[in-house]
Amino acid sequence: MTEIEASNMLVAIRVRPLSQKETSVNDKDIIRVEDHLLIVLDMNDFEDRKNILHRSREQRYVFDRIFKDAANEEVFQSTVQDLIHPALSGINACVFAYGPTGSGKTYTMIGTNDDPGIAVLTIREMFKQIESDTDKIYEIKISYVEIYNEAIRDLLIPNSGYLDLRDDPIRGVVIAGVSEFSVESTDQVMSLITAGNKRRTTEATNANQTSSRSHAVFQAMISQRDRVTDTVLDVFQGKLSLIDLAGSERGTVTENRGLRLLEGSKINRSLLALANCINALGDKTKKGVFVPYRDSKLTRMLKDSLGGNCKTIMISNISPAASQFEEIVNTLKYASRAKNIKYKVQANKKLVALHITEYKNIISDLRSEIESL
Ligand code: ADP
Ligand code: MG
Repeated sequence: MTEIEASNMLVAIRVRPLSQKETSVNDKDIIRVEDHLLIVLDMNDFEDRKNILHRSREQRYVFDRIFKDAANEEVFQSTVQDLIHPALSGINACVFAYGPTGSGKTYTMIGTNDDPGIAVLTIREMFKQIESDTDKIYEIKISYVEIYNEAIRDLLIPNSGYLDLRDDPIRGVVIAGVSEFSVESTDQVMSLITAGNKRRTTEATNANQTSSRSHAVFQAMISQRDRVTDTVLDVFQGKLSLIDLAGSERGTVTENRGLRLLEGSKINRSLLALANCINALGDKTKKGVFVPYRDSKLTRMLKDSLGGNCKTIMISNISPAASQFEEIVNTLKYASRAKNIKYKVQANKKLVALHITEYKNIISDLRSEIESL
């Protein structure tokens, strides 16, 4: 269980259907998917090519998984489902929904009643696996926060003030004072998420302006111990983070120079920092590249997930519409870069055991100090 496993960031692409609005203005679907692995942007039948004169008429990209015309359940089963068992065994896991505003991030993460999203399906699967495990006792605590304009707010309580990040010597970066709810059923989690979503800045009157700029971070902290031995040394702790990112349309990726801040544009700082971290982590050419985790709240919060002991999935969302060509290409390039990120993953048990040894040493030192008085 404590063996080290090498793993790459799994990058999936999800293509949403043409919207009614796109169909009504006769926008065309330019995306073809082959074998769930190859995505082809086909501009051959696209009349209005004013923005793409310098590009070839077909572009091809390869990814780990590509979904088009798929329900959330199918996306879940071939991506996040594989993270549930590791997360329950003490491994950190992290899922990002990335993409421009309107590309389907929230649909993928939260979904609808008819097509429940990844968050619901994840929790449902977690409880299913927990219920069928007769050897272990689990405790799941959840938190749900929003990062908007570099301020963190708790979505699980009404009228949350702003929360700070702190470096905890044992737990890593923590959100000081965030509420953590112990949960025992999918329904309970769902009502918390639903209430939380209503508190997102997205629900403000100028929803379109703000919704695209806030990140929602849902985290489940799982601890597990053996029912029989029940010793503290057998504690495993895993953390599963599901992140509905702000719209990526304010950033642009150029192939050679990575992501650049467009002058004068109000790019989302956390998203830019995430892109810079991904660029640095995915840079195969240099060793020991500096990763700017400290540049934003989001990357500080996710440091242990992005660069550390974690299994990570990025679901990049795109519209299939010809009018979105530039955003589609930007998203696919960004996602291609993320594919290079590698991890070494290990259950957190050893870490916990290590801290306990440290505490034991401290206690025995104190004891001998007292005895010598
Ligand atoms: P984002 O969160 O990226 O801004 P949304 O998830 O809100 O985008 O999606 C934009 C619109 O497209 C919504 O009306 C949503 O219901 C619809 N939509 C997105 N993805 C799908 C999908 N896979 N199937 C059906 N409708 C979708
Ligand atoms: Mg959204």
